[in-house]
This record gives sequence, structure tokens and C-alpha cells, in this order.
Amino acid sequence: MKSIDLTGQKVLVIRDARSALEAGASQVLVCKNCVVTPSARDFLAQNNIAVVTSGDVTSAAPAAYGQTASAPSSSGSALGRPAANARLFTTPEAEAVKKEICAVGRKLWMRQFVDGNGGNISYRIGPNEVICTPTLVSKYDLTPEDLSMVDLEGNQIAGSKARTSEILLHLEIYKEVPEAKSCVHCHPPHATAYAITGRVPPNLVIPEFEVFIGKVAISPYETPGTAEFAQTVLPFVKTHNTVLLANHGIICWADSVTHAEWFAEVLETYCWTLMLAAQLGAPISYISEQKGSDLLAIKKKLGLPDIRFDTSRMKECQLSDLEVPGSIALTPNPCDGNTGRPAETDLETLVRSVTDAVMETIGAK
Ligand SMILES: [Zn+2]
Repeated sequence: MKSIDLTGQKVLVIRDARSALEAGASQVLVCKNCVVTPSARDFLAQNNIAVVTSGDVTSAAPAAYGQTASAPSSSGSALGRPAANARLFTTPEAEAVKKEICAVGRKLWMRQFVDGNGGNISYRIGPNEVICTPTLVSKYDLTPEDLSMVDLEGNQIAGSKARTSEILLHLEIYKEVPEAKSCVHCHPPHATAYAITGRVPPNLVIPEFEVFIGKVAISPYETPGTAEFAQTVLPFVKTHNTVLLANHGIICWADSVTHAEWFAEVLETYCWTLMLAAQLGAPISYISEQKGSDLLAIKKKLGLPDIRFDTSRMKECQLSDLEVPGSIALTPNPCDGNTGRPAETDLETLVRSVTDAVMETIGAK
């Protein structure tokens, strides 16, 4: 038996899994808290390579997808988490969460934040248990019986319908942010319009947006449903409760399902309002940096994350235009439905033509 020692790594990704296969390994040894990404886990399982936690004597091969409710997941112990407990799926708390998820699903559909079978909702009910929406069901039609439960590696441990393929995105957030209890992913049109143009909305325009969301990050495009897609949000989710997913939609996390949906509403309305304002042809007036600090203080009291709390990232007077890692810091211009500020290229052309005219007038040309 050939064992590859990866105990020095905190994360085992598909690249490591492939290298292990190429090296002819039959098992990989990982440290207690190592995170094995779902695609790496699947790849290792398909190639009969066991994942063994340093100190364990038993193999920790991944649990098969689609286990019945009575079968506990075996993936927890390999990753330093308790084995998933399928019984959590039928507790009074779970039943209340299921109803809340269905109500939020209907809100998303009614507000046109999802269409077809798009969007997905989840709630972390235990350390290694997440209740989630199924694949291929409209969020309007959801019933509590449609929901399923997965462990943090995406193995389904309860529920008759197959879990959403985008659950991996939610799971990466739960693993990265312990405060996150619920994630809502949807495709609201105005926020998604920003996401397909690679832009983030400007700040210091409307107080509610500053307090509940603030800086929005934008994660790079990857194919939905893949582990690579799920991991695109990792650099941002600790300091942002809302992320634009390039060419796709948005994801929000919060302490409850209802609150995560609130954030989607706040962002969508904000993006929509900015677009409407751009059509008025007058520049937007901004909230001052000083008043913006007051809003940030309120946010801190509410316990909401904001990258601007990290003063080491801030220069003086930068509440509004601090560059968010992953965002494309373009100056919004009036033609693209943002703030009414002229774009840099427009300014340059204007300055050049004025200079030319002046030079011509004084005969310097
Ligand atoms: Zn989606």
C-alpha cells in the first residue's frame, strides 16, 4: 500500500488528488482539520484512494451520494467534524426551518429573483448538517417534503429528492464562516446586471445598503455546480455577506434564512434604484465620508461583516472607493446606469478637446 503524506496541507484540492493517483497512491494522509474539496473527494473515491486522517487507523472513504436517512455520513471524522446526524432532519427545529425555506423560496419567486428552477436556499442546522432545497423544483412550488439534508462535503444524508447541484457553493461558505447559518443564492435581474458587466455598485448612496451590505465583492466566473465555482467566493465571504457571482447571480449569507433573503432584496433594490437614477440625467449626491462612518458604526453594533472595518486596508477618505479584492474598480459613468460621474475616458477626451481649442485660440498650434 502506498501512502502519500499531505498532513502539511490545510486544503486538499483536485490537483492533489490527481498527483496522488499519478504517484500510484492507495491512500492519502491528511491532518485533522484538512478540508478535502468535494471534487477532490469524488476523484479519490472514484480511484479507490482512501483519505486517512493523521492518527486514525481506519479508512475514511467518502460516503456515497444518496444515502438513506438512516445511514450516517462517514465523511465527518476524516475532516475533524462529527459524523452527520440524519435525525436532525426531523426535529421540531428542522420542521420550522423547512417552512421558513419554503416561505423564502416563494418570496424569491414572487420578486422575480429566480426563474425556472433557479436559485437555492440552505440552512446549517448542525455542525455537519445542512438542510437545502432540491434540484429541478421551482422555488414557488417548494414544500417541506421537497427538502433534503447534506453533510458539509455535499453527501446527501436525508430527503427523497436530490439536493441542489449548487449546494457546494453554500458549503464552502459554511466551512469558511462559522457565523453563517443560512445562504440564499438567486439571480435578481438588476444585481445580476452588475454581475454580468463585472461591476460592483458604488457606496455611500443609500444608508440601508451601507448598514446591511456595504461593500460587495465580485467573484470570477466558473461553471455552476462545480467545486471550482464553489471556491470562487472563498476570498470574500469572511468580510462580505453578499457576493456578486460573475455572469451568474448573487449569494448572501446571514444568521437566518429570512435575513439572508433580506440582503438579496436590499442589494437588488439598490442596484435597481441606481439604474433608475442614472436615467434622470442628474448626478447622484453622495453621503459624506463622515456620515458614512456613522453608518459603519451602526453596522458594527449589529455584528455584520464589512471589509471597511479593517483599517489597514483603508486610506483616508476611502469609505466609498476602497477597492474590494476581486472587484473591478471601474469608475461608473452615466451611460452605464451607475452614478452620473463621467467616465475617465470621457474626461480625458473632454480635457484634450478643451486644451486643443484653447491652444488654437492663442495661436500656439
Ligand atoms: Zn445559480
